[in-house]
Amino acid sequence: MSREESALPLSPDEPDHEELLAQIPAILYTADRGAGGRWHYVSPQIETILGYSPQEWCADPTLWAQRLHPDDAARVLAYEDDPGRDGEDAIEYRLRHRDGRIVWVRDDAILRPGADGVPRWQGLLSQITDRKLAEAELELRAAQQAAVARLGEHALEGMSITDLCHEAVAAGTRLLDVEIGAVLELLPGREQFRLLAARGLPEPATSRAVPAGRLSQAGYTLLARQPVIVTDWDTEDRFQRSAVLTSQHARSGITVAVEGRTGPYGVLGLHSATGRRFKPSDVDFAVALANVLGDAFEHKLTAEDIRHRALHDPLTGLPNRILFVDRLAQAIARLRRRSGTSAVLLVDLDRFKLINESLGHDAGDELLAAAALRLKHIVRSSDTVARFGADTFGILLEEISGEHDAIEMAQRIAGVFTRPFVLGGDEHFLTASLGIALTGTGERADDLMRDAEAAMHRAKDRGRARYELFDERIRGRAIFRLRVDNDLRRALERDEFMLHYQPLVSLGDLSIVGVEALLRWEHPQRGQISPAEFIPVAEENGLINPLGRWVLDHACRQAADWSRMRPDAPPVSMSVNLSVVQFRHPGLVEAVAGALRESALDPELLTLELTESVMERDVEGLGEALEALKALGVRLVLDDFGTGYSSLSYLTRLPLDALKVDRSFVDGLGSEPRDTAVTEAIVAMSRALSLKVVGEGTETELQVTELARLGCDLAQGFHFSRPVPAQEITRMLQAGPAWLNASPDAPAGIDPQR
Ligand code: C2E
Ligand code: MG
Ligand code: MG
Repeated sequence: MSREESALPLSPDEPDHEELLAQIPAILYTADRGAGGRWHYVSPQIETILGYSPQEWCADPTLWAQRLHPDDAARVLAYEDDPGRDGEDAIEYRLRHRDGRIVWVRDDAILRPGADGVPRWQGLLSQITDRKLAEAELELRAAQQAAVARLGEHALEGMSITDLCHEAVAAGTRLLDVEIGAVLELLPGREQFRLLAARGLPEPATSRAVPAGRLSQAGYTLLARQPVIVTDWDTEDRFQRSAVLTSQHARSGITVAVEGRTGPYGVLGLHSATGRRFKPSDVDFAVALANVLGDAFEHKLTAEDIRHRALHDPLTGLPNRILFVDRLAQAIARLRRRSGTSAVLLVDLDRFKLINESLGHDAGDELLAAAALRLKHIVRSSDTVARFGADTFGILLEEISGEHDAIEMAQRIAGVFTRPFVLGGDEHFLTASLGIALTGTGERADDLMRDAEAAMHRAKDRGRARYELFDERIRGRAIFRLRVDNDLRRALERDEFMLHYQPLVSLGDLSIVGVEALLRWEHPQRGQISPAEFIPVAEENGLINPLGRWVLDHACRQAADWSRMRPDAPPVSMSVNLSVVQFRHPGLVEAVAGALRESALDPELLTLELTESVMERDVEGLGEALEALKALGVRLVLDDFGTGYSSLSYLTRLPLDALKVDRSFVDGLGSEPRDTAVTEAIVAMSRALSLKVVGEGTETELQVTELARLGCDLAQGFHFSRPVPAQEITRMLQAGPAWLNASPDAPAGIDPQR
C-alpha cells in the first residue's frame, strides 16, 4: 500500500474523532518537512511520552532535532531528506524525554502537500521502548547463551582452569556490562580464596589471598549456597565490601558459587561501579558461567583423581613405585646442581606371606596399612614413603648429610617394628630387611633402585631383620649377576658344567653311605664359579629347570655306574639338590622319573634335597609334588635345616626322610653352648619324628664326636672330604674302610673358604 493511498483518519480538525484519538497510545502530529520544520499539531500524548506539552513542543521547531539521540540523529535526518530511500515507510529511533530518559519511537508518517504548498508530514509517533528493550534483552540473552556455550566448548577442548576462568570473567563483564569480574578459588581448608582470574582489579590484588569468612560477599555466597546480589553497597549490611572492591568503587554486584558435586570450588563475582538492578536473567547468566567452571573443576579433579590413582597405592594411599622413581630422579637432578646426598631405603617385611596365609588377606592388608602409617610417621615431611608391592616399601631421604643419616633412619625403621601390631586383639610381631643405597656421582634412579634392592636381598640372605648398605662389593656382585646371566645361557651347550661329589659318612662306622652331587661351573674366562653365585641367577632366568634336569641325569647315571661297579658292596646313595623354582615347574616329577628310568638307578638310592625356602614361598601343590616324588621311591631330605623358617607342622606333614643340620650350627658344636643346644634339640626332634639327621659342614674331629654323641646318623664336611670329581670318589669307594686315607682333604688340608 502506497503512502498516498493510506487513509488514516488524520484530520485533527474533525471534532468527532477527538476523543478516539486521545486514546491512541501514540503522538499524532502534523509538521513541515525538514529538521527545523514547523510543528502544526501534536496530540496531548506527547506530554506522557516525551514530557512536553503540545504548546511547548510546537513553540520550538528545533526541539525534535534536539531531542534526537545522537547515535540515531544522522540516520533519522537522512531519512527526513530522502524518505522511502530504503523502501521503509517508518523509521525507529530514540528521543530523549524531557527528564533525560531514552524513549524509543516508531515514526509512521506520510508526506502530504500542505495548504501553503510546503510538503507536510502527517504522522504517528508510537512509543516502542518496551519492545525495543525486550528485543535488546533477547539479543543479550542470545549473546550470553552463546558465551556460555563457547565456555563449555573450551572446557571440553581441555582449556586450563585458569584460562577458562579468564574467559568467564571476560564474558561476564562484557555481557553484563560491568567493570569488575573475578573468579576466586577456595583453598584447601576452606578459609581462604585465591584469585584465579580477574578483570578491572589492580595487579597486586591478583596475588593476594582473600579470607573466606561469612563477612565477605564471596564467603557469604558459599554459606548462602545461592546467588548473592548487592544492589548498592551503601545500604548493604549482610557483609562488608572488600578492600579491593572499595578501591575500585564498586557500587553493586552479583556473586555466585562455583559448585562441584561434593562442594563449592569457589566464587564468580561480577561488580559494577554504578548502582545496578540486576535482573533475574543477569543472575542466570552468572550462574550458567559458574556452572561451566564447576564442571571444569570437577573434570580436572577427575583427571587429577586418575593421575592420583595411577601414582598411588590404593591400600595405603602412599605413592607407588612409579611416583617414587620419579621423585628420586628429581632429587638426583637437584643434586647435580648442588652437592648433597640422598638415600633410597628399601624396606621388605620378613615372612609377610605367612601372615597372609595364617590370618587371611584382610588382616594382612590391615597390617600393611598400619606399617605404612608407622613408616610415614618417622620420616620428615620432605621424605617420601612409597609402597612398591606386596610387602615392600621404599623411603627416599632427600638432602641428608650422608651415610650416617641413612643408617640412623634404618635403625628407626627397625624400631618401628619392635612394637607389636595388634590385629583382632592379638599381637603380631613383624621384622623387616632393609637395603640402603646412597646417591653417588652420575647415578641414575634405576641404578639406585637396583642397588637398594641388591642390599636388601643381602640383608635377607644374612638372616633378615637387619639392614645392609649397598657397597662396591654388592655392586660387583650385581654386575656379576648381569654378566653371568648371559654366559650361563651358553654354558649348558658348551658343556661347561660338571658335578663334584661329597661323601656322606655314617657316624657309626665312618663308611661312605652316599654322596651329594654339587654342581660346578668352569667358566672359560672366570674359572670356577660357585653354585651359590650362579644358582640364584639360573633361578631368576629360568635356566635352573634344564640345568636341574642335566644334574639329575648325570648324577643318576654316575650313581648307577657306582652300583654296577661294586655289585656286592653296600650301595651308595646319590643326593641331588633341587631348587624351589624346580618345584614350581610342572615337569619336575617327570624329570626325576626320566632320570631314574634312563639310568636304571634304584630309586631308593636317589635322595632329593630341598631347602626350607620351598615351604616359605608358597609353592602351590608342594604336598602333591612331594607325594608324587615319594611314590617314585626316592628319598626326600630337608637341607640347611635351621636357617629358614620351618614350622614343626611342615616336618610332620611332609613325607621327609631326613634333615640336614645347617653348618652354621655344626660350626659351634662343642664350643658354642647355644649351637650345641640347638643341634641337640634338632636331633631329638628328628628322632621323635623318625627322621634321620645329617650334620653338614663338619670340619673338625670335635664336631664329629659331638654329632655322634648327640645321636646324629650321618655327617658330611671337609673333615672327611671336600666335594671332588667322580673319579676321586671311585678311588675312595675302591679303598673300602681305608677310604679316609684316600681322601685328599681329610683329615688335614681343610679350607674353610672351600
Ligand atoms: P648345600 O646343598 O647345602 O651344599 C653344601 C655346601 O656346603 C656345598 O657348597 C659344599 O661345598 C659346602 N660344604 C660341604 N662341607 C663343608 C665344610 O666342611 N665347610 C664348608 N665351609 N663348606 C662345606 P657348594 O658346592 O658351593 O654349594 C652351595 C649350594 O649350592 C648348595 O648348598 C646347594 O644349595 C647349591 N647347589 C649346589 N649344587 C646344586 C645343584 O645341582 N642344584 C641346585 N638346585 N643347587 C645346587
Ligand atoms: Mg644340599
Ligand atoms: Mg646344605
